[in-house]
Amino acid sequence: MFHSESTRFLEKNEVLGSVDVDIYTDIIGKNRVEVLKKKAEPLSNKEWAHVNSTFKGGGVAEMLKSVVPIAKGLGINTKWYCIEGDNDFYSITKRFHNIIQGVDQKFTLRDLFETYIKTNKDNFKDQVISEDFAVVHDPQPCASIVHGHYEGKVVWRCHIDTSEANEMIWHFLLPYINNYDSVIFSMKEFVKEGIKKPVYQITPAIDPLTRKNRKRTRQEALDTLDDLFKEHGIDPERPIVLAVSRYDIHKNQKTIIRSFLELKKDPAVKKLKPQLVIVGNSASDDPEGVTMYQEILKVIDGDPDIFPLLNIPNNEENIGALMKIAYVFIHVSTKEGFGLVVTEALWQGTPVIGSNVGGIVLQVIPAKTGFLVEPFDVERIVGFTRHFLLNDEERERFGMQAVEHVRENFLITTLVEKYIRLMRFLVGTDYPYFKI
Ligand code: UDP
Repeated sequence: MFHSESTRFLEKNEVLGSVDVDIYTDIIGKNRVEVLKKKAEPLSNKEWAHVNSTFKGGGVAEMLKSVVPIAKGLGINTKWYCIEGDNDFYSITKRFHNIIQGVDQKFTLRDLFETYIKTNKDNFKDQVISEDFAVVHDPQPCASIVHGHYEGKVVWRCHIDTSEANEMIWHFLLPYINNYDSVIFSMKEFVKEGIKKPVYQITPAIDPLTRKNRKRTRQEALDTLDDLFKEHGIDPERPIVLAVSRYDIHKNQKTIIRSFLELKKDPAVKKLKPQLVIVGNSASDDPEGVTMYQEILKVIDGDPDIFPLLNIPNNEENIGALMKIAYVFIHVSTKEGFGLVVTEALWQGTPVIGSNVGGIVLQVIPAKTGFLVEPFDVERIVGFTRHFLLNDEERERFGMQAVEHVRENFLITTLVEKYIRLMRFLVGTDYPYFKI
């Protein structure tokens, strides 16, 4: 049942190939590249597996698309397995996701046993993950530690904020979590009580060389966006306020829209005629996307300066280009594991107004890379957006600091290095310093 047995998985692994880490030299410097290679040397005869539930859409898939080829290029035989489920499975795991992040939704014993556990079991019916080190991502395949078959060391990598997880779901998941060798969270604050295994902190990261994150000039970005802008009637001469994320209840796009509608009333801003571009997609393991999009449309109510886009063509290039030309990026989630979109915007030199929530606070340094607000604080969102729209120099200063903050902390090479340290410790001899 794994995609690994289907052509899709095989194709994916061929397409991913391997990447020589030297290509990152211009961005992180020769020294860091050499350190990474040296750290990977003892793992050259080892195998590494990732297990998640989608090849496409969302932050996990985004990172694995780069982590797997880089690890291969470093000589570690790395595979990406993706469990398969039916619509019921994705609908339940999406509910898990919401409940874990504090939303009050229901699930039944039948959901747990006949769908969630059964899907985990079925995926492993004829499949052994024999790699020396396996990283299992998020709740969807979490139960596979008991119902699946792993031969090496296995860690559960949780990308979401579990700090206020509903007690019932947490107590359902805990026995599984405590069967892993270790657990990884993005932040110390996300670790809820009851975990009896060593916990490590690894923050997510972006690949600076993908089509989305590559550096481009403003003019290149505008050329890229030409078709999209013409199709939707977006004016490249007018300032753009940007928001990008899945259409999801926690992403709080409605507050961004309400803030923009307020912002437009400001006389100084009015003259600039800003446009709000909201881009969103729906991941294949997320059945709620389209419904959320419909709700967003209702709030926008036909406002001619707001452009809600769903599953845009040439996604990678267009997202990167939008992040480059935006005057400011807004991301005010009510819960946020990390928020790769924030990293991507900062890396393109765009300041971010982010909510004081989850991993966003690691990225948005107030008065340096952007500003932090409470998720529903329309007044402050308006104030800071106004600030960036009206101050070219400020935007530039923040933008430069933003790029350096990402280079220092949130590039994919740093992420791979941390995984390698943990892998060396679990299958070898090292002791990683980032244990919580
Ligand atoms: N994304 C995209 N197109 C879209 C919306 C989102 O490519 O229309 C990407 C976005 O650029 C980012 C990822 O999806 O790389 C979302 O990751 P994030 O950590 O922000 O949120 P998640 O979806 O994992 O909650």
